[in-house]
Amino acid sequence: MTGTLIVLGTAQDGGIPQLGSGPGTGAPRLVSSIAVVMDDGTTLLADVSPDVKAQLAKLNQVAAYQKRKARNAVDHITLTHAHMGHYTGLVQFGPEAHNAAALPTWVTASMATYLRDNQPWAALIEGGHLDINSDTGLGGFPIAPGLMLRLVPVPHRAEFTDTVGISVNNEALFIPDIDSWEAWPGAEEEVARHRICLLDASYSSLEEIPGRDLTDIPHPLVSDTLARFGHLTNERRLILTHINHSNPIADPQSKAAAQVRESGFEVAEDFMSFPLGRD
Ligand SMILES: [Zn+2]
Ligand SMILES: [Zn+2]
Repeated sequence: MTGTLIVLGTAQDGGIPQLGSGPGTGAPRLVSSIAVVMDDGTTLLADVSPDVKAQLAKLNQVAAYQKRKARNAVDHITLTHAHMGHYTGLVQFGPEAHNAAALPTWVTASMATYLRDNQPWAALIEGGHLDINSDTGLGGFPIAPGLMLRLVPVPHRAEFTDTVGISVNNEALFIPDIDSWEAWPGAEEEVARHRICLLDASYSSLEEIPGRDLTDIPHPLVSDTLARFGHLTNERRLILTHINHSNPIADPQSKAAAQVRESGFEVAEDFMSFPLGRD
């Protein structure tokens, strides 16, 4: 079965613009998230951002999404971790919205515990709105015909939960948040394994936000990512996402964005899409 990956948002957790920080760099961007719509209409949402309503409204433009008979907005959810931009849109899947059945939600054991132990998420589970599946292990597991997920552990600040990247059919890899590539010995092997990779590009420089020490919120710099995976750009699309409002690559006209393109990488744009399974 083939499908389409749609990039639903490309900004760091607070979006662009961010509250209280002016217009930000470039055009407005929604918070990072992706969807996969299979050709039979089955739809997976990976990360549920605070912008989820505006993001899912755009799925009506995908022909296969129109084939859906289910009344739920999506058929499956998976989550990378419990930082604000990645799961708080779950509030829209509760009793106030019209979801016909409990949504299969594929997460790590740590994320499952966090959701079960904290409101308002616990109420969504107890009320039968989310069907939490945390027996996900390290291997791939099928969730629908032609759709296999694999949760890939990555190092990232773990105040609440661990963090994973999301692999879809070993073809597309989504890693919106990671502390550093050095801290993840499997980084090159995982990126090499996928044809389409959406990778954390929060910051271009440690001096981007005056008055804030970015070593407290570690991310690989864009230059680190270009250096580490530059040799892998030939046969795959390496796309930079989860862009902070301060990052010059958010503006396609910037020198920084041009340098990304010259290095064989791409800067993600909201609602760009990729065919899956059609090699
Ligand atoms: Zn994030
Ligand atoms: Zn995070």
